[in-house]
Amino acid sequence: MLRLSRYSIGVGDRFAHQARPQLRAFILAAGQGVDVVPVWNKSNREHTFIGTEPVSVRNAAAAAVRDLNWTKPWHVDADHINLDTVERFLEPSDFFTIDVAHFIGKPAASADLDAFLDRHPELIGVIAIPGVAQPFTTTRESVAATAGTYLAAVQEAGRIYRHIVSRKGADNFITEVSMDETDNPQTPPELLVILAALADERIPIQTIAPKFTGRFNKGVDYVGDLAQFTLEFESDLAVIAHAIRQYGLPDNLKLSVHSGSDKFSIYEPIRKALPKFNAGLHLKTAGTTWLEELIGLAEAGGPGLALAKEIYAEAWGHGEELCKPYASVIDIDFPKLPVPATVAGWTSEQFTGAMRHDATNPLYDKGVRQLLHVGFKIAAKMGDRYLNMLDACEESISRNVTFNLYNRHIRPLLIGA
Ligand SMILES: [Zn+2]
Repeated sequence: MLRLSRYSIGVGDRFAHQARPQLRAFILAAGQGVDVVPVWNKSNREHTFIGTEPVSVRNAAAAAVRDLNWTKPWHVDADHINLDTVERFLEPSDFFTIDVAHFIGKPAASADLDAFLDRHPELIGVIAIPGVAQPFTTTRESVAATAGTYLAAVQEAGRIYRHIVSRKGADNFITEVSMDETDNPQTPPELLVILAALADERIPIQTIAPKFTGRFNKGVDYVGDLAQFTLEFESDLAVIAHAIRQYGLPDNLKLSVHSGSDKFSIYEPIRKALPKFNAGLHLKTAGTTWLEELIGLAEAGGPGLALAKEIYAEAWGHGEELCKPYASVIDIDFPKLPVPATVAGWTSEQFTGAMRHDATNPLYDKGVRQLLHVGFKIAAKMGDRYLNMLDACEESISRNVTFNLYNRHIRPLLIGA
């Protein structure tokens, strides 16, 4: 089976121009003795909005790998696919994020539910798991309720997995199952039930993306109770280690943190938790790189800055419709956003100060940052005018993309300050 390395970071590259500066961040990490592999991800949603095909992600990544002589693994993730959307991802992808969030809460056949409960008496009663302070206490009814919520979703994951196997062969891809795009977080006892069911479906999952407690808004820091997150994250790691032993799941199974970019306040708790459980990590970033493109344009001044301001003005004018598909991961106070006429007068320093994710800078404006995060559709509509400006401002953009990924993400997450 194609095996995912212990540490991996998902990188998004909306306009297929930043694979090289992204890869440089991984080379910097390797220089510090940390092996972390890049996984280029772009969801069906982003491909559809921008009008690109999944093969473009592979081509851009392959070119960067060749140009920079990267000899370690790298992957292309068919991010958030389902049976309806997987087709065009099959050939260029070797990593599949099977998204079954929409099936959470759908009823499974009652015979399947009964069979699950009969097969898993070990899930009922007092379950002591090393690394979990308080043993889980469950009843047949409580496990039935959890299985009732998640069994149909897991069965759907099985259908999608087997479809991919029939087309690619079981040994040629990495499987992730995601349940993050839903309203309620999954608790550690629920995760245990889900993993048991995934093992029953014989899905060799190497990463699983639950929804964690707290808000994972796009492009900004984590919002929530840090102590509670840490407890939940560590319990999840303990549950995974337990499920690997109990159910024979792949021994490199690890958590995948979606919308993981810019969640600076949880990186230290994550970094400290991993060695306690001898665990790996996959963290997905995506739009943070597109924001660095804009920062690079603005930093370049002149026509680059002018284009960045134009994108802001358009995004401001279409704020509601741009935010709609991201409602659960965006939190903008619209009346507080600066009006385009104000932004039109900004210097490079003011524009980059508002956008760059540095909360200690008084110019930082998380509303501006979130609005522009969903504003990539505006740039997509500009077509070559936008792409040509990326080429013209390559130096400042590359520098910002690499710095952001390495210094703000990989380093605090896996290396330490
Ligand atoms: Zn996700």
